[in-house]
Amino acid sequence: MPQQCPHCMSEIHAEATTCPSCGAQRGILKPGWSAERWRGAAQIMFIGAGLAALIGLALGYSAATSSWQVNWGVGFFMFMLLSPFMLLFGIAGLVMRRFIPRMQESWFR
Ligand SMILES: [Zn+2]
Repeated sequence: MPQQCPHCMSEIHAEATTCPSCGAQRGILKPGWSAERWRGAAQIMFIGAGLAALIGLALGYSAATSSWQVNWGVGFFMFMLLSPFMLLFGIAGLVMRRFIPRMQESWFR
């Protein structure tokens, strides 16, 4: 079923992502950002969260074992330094994956 461009009122194919007559772009929150694209960006955020966790683990482990006495308290503290990044990337990824793709698409010009 064809739909109408809200900007120029011309009919567009239901699957079209760009209006052929005025160039308006379909998207969620941002022009050209389909649900698929948001999910792809979410993957990158999850990779960022995973990287932050890995760096935190490496940092924590090396801090814990660097002195003559293994100190897991220091290691845990160093690991926690990275936790804001894990949280930030994790929450951003979750929002981009679970909430934004369910929002209404609109046309941008
Ligand atoms: Zn249009």
